[in-house]
Amino acid sequence: MTVCTRFAPSPTGYLHVGGVRTALYSWLYAKKTGGRFILRIEDTDRERSTQASVDAILAGMAWLGLDYDAGPFYQTQRFERYHAVIQQLLAEGKAYHCYCTKERLDNLRETQMQAKQKPRYDRHCLHHPQDKPAGVQPVVRFKNPQVGAVVFKDLIKGVISINNSELDDLIIARSDGAPTYNLTVVVDDWDMCITHVIRGDDHINNTPRQINILQALGATLPAYAHVPMILGDDGQRLSKRHGAVSVLQYQEAGFLPQALLNYLVRLGWAHGDQEVFSIEQMIDLFEIESVNKAPSAFNTEKLLWLNQHYIKTLPADVVAEHLMPQMDALGLAVAQEGAPPLAAVVQLQAERAKTLKEMAQNSRYFFQDVIELDETAVKKHFRAHLLAPMTDLYHALAALHDWTAAAIHQVIVDIAAQHVVNMGKIAQPLRIAVTGRSMSPSIDATVALLGKPRTLNRLQHALVVLTALPN
Ligand code: GLU
Repeated sequence: MTVCTRFAPSPTGYLHVGGVRTALYSWLYAKKTGGRFILRIEDTDRERSTQASVDAILAGMAWLGLDYDAGPFYQTQRFERYHAVIQQLLAEGKAYHCYCTKERLDNLRETQMQAKQKPRYDRHCLHHPQDKPAGVQPVVRFKNPQVGAVVFKDLIKGVISINNSELDDLIIARSDGAPTYNLTVVVDDWDMCITHVIRGDDHINNTPRQINILQALGATLPAYAHVPMILGDDGQRLSKRHGAVSVLQYQEAGFLPQALLNYLVRLGWAHGDQEVFSIEQMIDLFEIESVNKAPSAFNTEKLLWLNQHYIKTLPADVVAEHLMPQMDALGLAVAQEGAPPLAAVVQLQAERAKTLKEMAQNSRYFFQDVIELDETAVKKHFRAHLLAPMTDLYHALAALHDWTAAAIHQVIVDIAAQHVVNMGKIAQPLRIAVTGRSMSPSIDATVALLGKPRTLNRLQHALVVLTALPN
């Protein structure tokens, strides 16, 4: 039997990191077992589903590299099939029409609550099929078994047993004929030959109901794994008020997909005390059975640590590819003449940036024609007496043919020696002159990468500023 897993988001909002972790676990399980992974968009709630949300799901999956072997399937395109199954259940006496008004159901509920009973449908319409009030469009209810229990072994939570007496005859088609969530999921999992349903544990109460419907249809039951939720730092379910929860927000904030995937796989699952996992290692080592039963708390610091780890260790051209959109967002043209290759910028900046957004912001000066000099830095480091050494520095660099970090370093050392000043007294104004700021990677490497024309241009401008200073 080929393993088949699925990710089945409802497109009613952003793609939540919790959803992505579930998707990742499903994806890993399929990869690990040589199985298939399916993407299914559960868009039957037409009022709340939006195309923007579908787009966010597809973009998020693509960004993370969570590829699917089939899909995306859209439930709204499968209504005929759901109707056929509902008709089949009706014809086989496994489902029935219910004409009860809201008023009757409310009264029933009220009476049961007062009698301290669990509110549930009393099967009035099953027992009185002739009771069909004129003008009422019926719903369809599934005839849930009355006795016995649904017992299944959840791959994460262990054996779960629910008495059928706890379960209602749930509505599988609304009065307008629209199928409900539990019905569509069951039909899809069945039709798509899903062998392992890996999903958030907010669905655990639906599972016994779905198992009963699957059994009524004579379908083979999948295995289930319910993944605990992710909490914020205050112990509450992770939500917007804790900060970013949408995957695309993490992309915008400058996280690498490798870092987010690594972070999410570890959140709620461990392999000894290993923290860093390549995709290949994740596939190799991941075990759904060892996912934690308890919820896990999101820790942005750890995610940042992993992000920096990947910024430093992934090949620079891979990081550069992900840096590109950040540069675009800042309006910086990367592919212009005279600008250094982005991968070289990544190599230079890798040690100093926790996010790609930070890296982009710190790399502006490589891609700008004109830079602004930070006023505070200028005030602190530009001194009138530096005009002579800085002028000599300009000429020495202008005469330099071997435009490498080592040669540039030597020029700075020589000029400092000639003028009997500390090297920093030269290097810092040079840094401010060429980057506009008082912090950058090592100045010789920065100047080397910036290139001769831009360096000389900027130094010339700095000389003008120095000339204008009072003695
Ligand atoms: N569409 C459901 C959701 O987004 C998931 C259903 C399932 O995985 O069975 O919560």
